[in-house]
Amino acid sequence: MKIAVGGFQHETNTFAPSKADFTAFARGGAWPALSRGDAVFEAMAGVNLPCAGFIDEARSQGHQLVPLSWAAATPSAHVTEDAFERIAGQILEDLKAAGGVDGLYLDLHGAMVTERHQDGEGELLRRVRDLVGPDLPVVVSLDLHANVTPAMVELSDALVAYRTYPHVDMAMTGARAFGLMATLLAGRRLAKARRALPFLIPLTSGCSLIEPAQALYDSLGERESLPGVASLSFSAGFSPADIWHCGPTVVAYGEDPAATERAADELAQAILEQEAGFAGTIMSAKDAVAHAIQVGARARRPVVLADTQDNPGAGGNGDTVGLLAELVRQKAPRAVIGLIFDPKAAEQAHAAGEGAEIEIGLGSHSGLPGHEPLRGSYRVKKLGSGRFECTGPFYRGARMELGPMALLELGGVEVGVASKKAQLADREMLRHIGVDPEERGIVAVKSSVHFRADFQPIAEQVVVAAAPGPNPVDHLQLDYRNLRGGVRLMPMGPLSAGPKT
Ligand SMILES: [Zn+2]
Repeated sequence: MKIAVGGFQHETNTFAPSKADFTAFARGGAWPALSRGDAVFEAMAGVNLPCAGFIDEARSQGHQLVPLSWAAATPSAHVTEDAFERIAGQILEDLKAAGGVDGLYLDLHGAMVTERHQDGEGELLRRVRDLVGPDLPVVVSLDLHANVTPAMVELSDALVAYRTYPHVDMAMTGARAFGLMATLLAGRRLAKARRALPFLIPLTSGCSLIEPAQALYDSLGERESLPGVASLSFSAGFSPADIWHCGPTVVAYGEDPAATERAADELAQAILEQEAGFAGTIMSAKDAVAHAIQVGARARRPVVLADTQDNPGAGGNGDTVGLLAELVRQKAPRAVIGLIFDPKAAEQAHAAGEGAEIEIGLGSHSGLPGHEPLRGSYRVKKLGSGRFECTGPFYRGARMELGPMALLELGGVEVGVASKKAQLADREMLRHIGVDPEERGIVAVKSSVHFRADFQPIAEQVVVAAAPGPNPVDHLQLDYRNLRGGVRLMPMGPLSAGPKT
């Protein structure tokens, strides 16, 4: 069979400081740059991404693949209309040029918001359907943080989401998407069911390494093995997306419509019963640093602090310095924090050279109200090119291109600086600038959960710290204007009021 494959991923935090323009997709960074045609195969070689898993699986079954385009940008505010039109345009153009195909697979995120469309994926799928008609099997893999809309379900034949957060199963999810494609290519049809849960889940408590998420995700395999059921997904949603359909969902597929509906109902009910457990606990930056110093004094392994509210993996710019300032203020011993996104500081460090002192204001260049760069005399400890390959379970195989990097030191605290935004979720990102994280007392990371894949195994303890940033753990701080009414903004919390005009 001939299967077209492509991808277009963006996780949109509509409250974040900067948008994703075409350049953000074209240049890559932590993930491959925009690729088209055969370059898609090169970009996907050996990488933990859904498209890579789908390609490997389809090839091993002897199918012919037609590469379209694959693009992703670091999470941020809206995808610009220009970027959306150009990338969607080239996917559709190549799909059209491919002539008759037997199936289409798309590697999408599920939480893309563009300047004009609240539901970026729904809009892309609408255009795809207009082109290919209602009968071509269209299978889509989604991020665990997808805000799955009714349009996405209606316009595709099957949606399948990751089951781990940190997302160590991205490639595996692509392989599972192929399994559904194979069912459809065999001429079998799948009934669909979607359920929307009535409460938003904070990112940090949706981690599948902790309860209640762990048991819920673990249960999916058993639930979808019931007769007549083919696939079940639980997407936790992406809360900082101010759209009508924001929130967690369940989608189910199966050859028996009644069994499929029942499986969706039962999974939704099981999630609802765990609502209180999704509330989670966090500490202020001040308390988190004090706690880490205290624990670190008698531990042999580092205390890992998650600077979640500026997580570049959730739309933060990775340039707030609240947690850094707190580490310096409390004279945290053997502490390192990263990665601060500040191309200018990296450039100045490279110009000055290792061992030099530079007088700079670090970070906070995105103009967030109430944020100021942290001024001081920083020592340049180590320089890096920003080019290296990751080795941890989440970014496995990713060929990083983070531009000039530097390890600076202020008041005894080390700071990793990069020229591109990237979530600190792999130990290589620190080793590249001369830091063995295992040797530090405190390791502060700009990440919410993905860091756990590589850092939890070396951590004495993981503490979620709430330094000020654009990705608040507490959704009550977000001014939703488009979210539908009747959704609890936090687990067991107050209801959303509905759209404001
Ligand atoms: Zn995600």
